[in-house]
Amino acid sequence: MLLAAPLRVVWSGVMVAEPAANDVVPLAVAKSADGGGAPMTPMTPMMVQFLAIKKDHPDSILFYRMGDFYEMFFDDAVTAAAALDIALTKRGKHLGEDIPMCGVPVHSYETYLHRLITKGLRVAICEQMEDPAAAKKRGAKSVVARGVVRVVTPGTLTEDALLDARRNNFLAALVRVGTSYGLAWLDVSTGGFWTEAVADEDLGTALARVTPGELLVSDRLLQLPQLFDLLAEWRDVLTPLPSARFDSDNGRRRLEALFEVGTLDGFGAFERGETAAAGAIVDYVELTQKGKFPRIAPPERLRPGGVLEIDGATRRNLELTATLTGDRRGSLLGTIDRTVSGPGARLLAVWLGAPLTDTAAIADRHDAVQFMVDHERLRADLRDVLASAPDMERALSRLTIDRGGPRDLAAIRDALSGARRIAAMIDGAANLGLPNNLDTAKAGLGEHGSLIERLERALATDLPMLARDGGFIADGYFAALDEAVAFRDQSRRVIAELQARYVDETGIQTLKVRHNNVLGYFVEVSVRHAEKLPTGTDSPFIHRQTMANAVRYTTVELGDLEGKLARAAEKALALELELFDDLVAEVLGRDEDLGRAARALAEIDVVSGLATLAVDARLIRPIVDDGDGFDVVGGRHLVVEAALSSAGDASFVANDCCLGAGDEAENARIWLLTGPNMAGKSTFLRQNALIIILAQMGSFVPAVSANIGIVDRLFSRVGAADDLARGRSTFMVEMVETAAILNRAGPRSFVILDEIGRGTATYDGLSIAWAVVEHLHEQNRCRALFATHYHELNALTARLSGLGSYTMQVKEWQDDVVFLHTVAPGAADRSYGIHVARLAGLPASATTRASEVLAQLEDGNEADTLSRLADELPLFQHAATLRPAPGAGNEPEIERRLAELRPDELTPIDALNEIYKLVGMVKKDK
Ligand code: ATP
Repeated sequence: MLLAAPLRVVWSGVMVAEPAANDVVPLAVAKSADGGGAPMTPMTPMMVQFLAIKKDHPDSILFYRMGDFYEMFFDDAVTAAAALDIALTKRGKHLGEDIPMCGVPVHSYETYLHRLITKGLRVAICEQMEDPAAAKKRGAKSVVARGVVRVVTPGTLTEDALLDARRNNFLAALVRVGTSYGLAWLDVSTGGFWTEAVADEDLGTALARVTPGELLVSDRLLQLPQLFDLLAEWRDVLTPLPSARFDSDNGRRRLEALFEVGTLDGFGAFERGETAAAGAIVDYVELTQKGKFPRIAPPERLRPGGVLEIDGATRRNLELTATLTGDRRGSLLGTIDRTVSGPGARLLAVWLGAPLTDTAAIADRHDAVQFMVDHERLRADLRDVLASAPDMERALSRLTIDRGGPRDLAAIRDALSGARRIAAMIDGAANLGLPNNLDTAKAGLGEHGSLIERLERALATDLPMLARDGGFIADGYFAALDEAVAFRDQSRRVIAELQARYVDETGIQTLKVRHNNVLGYFVEVSVRHAEKLPTGTDSPFIHRQTMANAVRYTTVELGDLEGKLARAAEKALALELELFDDLVAEVLGRDEDLGRAARALAEIDVVSGLATLAVDARLIRPIVDDGDGFDVVGGRHLVVEAALSSAGDASFVANDCCLGAGDEAENARIWLLTGPNMAGKSTFLRQNALIIILAQMGSFVPAVSANIGIVDRLFSRVGAADDLARGRSTFMVEMVETAAILNRAGPRSFVILDEIGRGTATYDGLSIAWAVVEHLHEQNRCRALFATHYHELNALTARLSGLGSYTMQVKEWQDDVVFLHTVAPGAADRSYGIHVARLAGLPASATTRASEVLAQLEDGNEADTLSRLADELPLFQHAATLRPAPGAGNEPEIERRLAELRPDELTPIDALNEIYKLVGMVKKDK
């Protein structure tokens, strides 16, 4: 639909100006769409310009700046109007057809931009590149030159309004070199940049850990059949690019140029795939930011095996950063987050997403948390300062790409003075024996006295959003600026004096000197008084305009003054902008130090937040060592515990879990956990997995004591939903996840499996569960918790020495079942499923029938029973004539009658009759 138009002027491929108004535009005489050759309205020069720019950005919605609006045309308008729910109008014609159009105001464009980006669209922002006055000089009807200044994509956002302050937004790139992959990811809004070489089988896990907001892949990668399923999972964030953009040699050169180094070796021993991926990111940033680079830190290489690997399914199932419904609240992250700043919250999410595997590094984090637990006063003071420290990383990034303003400078000033106070507090605590990490963080905070002092002197109290609005430099900071401002203010005073003089001279008390954009300064009097003004060639008052109630004049003096005033204001603004650039240059000259300080602040926030959590939620310091045991005493599930306590329900019951530590016969490596529905099996499984994650990320854990042999991979198969989009049934999803576990778990892995095999026929399910237990025990040799309703599996304990039987305890009391939520050695003999069904509100007729079927099944030969049951009445017909089950008494029938009574519809006599009947039934029963 969008045709290219010949251009009159193309400037460096970016700015496109228009043909002069009277130029003949060849397209204007193109045939009409129906081929009839009817003459067309000539295409306007503006449309020619629009089409030329659009041609270079076919995949983006083009925000075409027209005065105070960004306008959209053609298909862009149709898509955007639907996505934004705004009016679709039309403007002129193209090839005989109306041109659809819609627009958004410039002053509130961020809201609209946000909505488009979250819907997966890209937006090219096309600005006016010159003053309209300059365009006019080229001809009365010339069109202002315009150019795309930036392409906004989900992974390249920098505006606070478009970002979640408490989450990183990663732009990632994935490259295949040989048989392995290179992955790189960058947070454009903070500058953090990482790479990783990923083996084939770890790709899904690595992507799940990074969770990119936008993932760049080559079009060739998209063709690989083995990646089809995986990339389908990320389809909403994929940006395919030509393969040429992923060349590893070009990538290396690009990175060397960006970081101004002769070799990347100083940053790490990158594999080809990593340089190719990192290079592709840098290239894409340059492309979308139109050559302006945000602050990008040198890439940090993730050491293979350096983090606890947790695949995507496990992350989702354990609800690490979001619940299954997508909320942060109710997730582990939402529950443990006590940070008080955006950067702290982001770093906490990174820690949680990538727990460590190096016991010394973990112990360092625990030491820091312990220190903060022990020094409550210091912690509270630090958190007070951290809470008021602005987000320096993001301010810094905005300033780097010219998208920052005076408020970003103030943010850096305030964050740095916060850092100074924090450094002093930590210094003050040095005699308490600082742990390593706090010592390092303190060093990272650095010394920024001169910059703070300069910014304090330079910036005024009230700051505008944009530098071009002026008025942000404090009085007394720069003499020449003070002079220009004084002159400007003085001119204003002179105008007031002039007004007083004119009033005096004319005797018109209501005479005013006013200003508007068309006339500039003018004298205004009411129509009634206009006659009193002297006219004629020697009069100072020159008539300009007669309104309904007023007449307007200018004077030579006013004109002169206006000129001076405009020049003074212009000069003041120009000076301010120069000073702004100067301050920005000073800030950016220290961006590495400032980035380090920002990271140190974030780390102190995370550590003191974890300490606060430890105190609030009664957590203890775990021991994480190189052993292969797992010994947790009195473990709890933080999220379930918090939910129970906020609902005012019974308190959480703590449970021990001791796997593989010590004598194998005594402490089985794999626990088979049986127990009724609703007894707490899933909770127990998950709480132990979460304790591992918490411990290895550096947090304390909810337990009385915890000794954990380092875990390198964590797997879960708990709860599953259909994945209809990928054509997988619930059972298929379950089997895919189980396959991943059996194929990948090693002796250092930890596996939790919940009800394997329940989605198929009983014997199929039991056989699969049986084989899975054997495989885990014999082949994977990992630590595992296996919850199941197949009590038959307990027979395996006789043969597998590392397998132990445990059960969730319940108590039967007055025909009811009480869940104790305690885990004890042994095996459950019943599931109490029907009891839970009754609690869930299944009709009494159904649960009664179920009890009856169960009793018969348990009683005798299964095949006979089933054929007999099938011959009986269908359920609902049967329900009406229910006979009491042997020994079950008349209660179900009485209950049913009671449930069916509608008191509002009964007359007193009916009610009495019902009571007689019910009493009769009870007596008969007795
Ligand atoms: P099912 O077999 O039906 O999946 P389950 O045995 O896995 O059930 P859970 O889902 O773990 O049971 O727990 C059911 C509910 O019991 C939880 O939502 C929670 O409210 C409560 N619960 C579980 N564990 C405990 C505990 N240790 N202390 C207190 N309440 C608990």
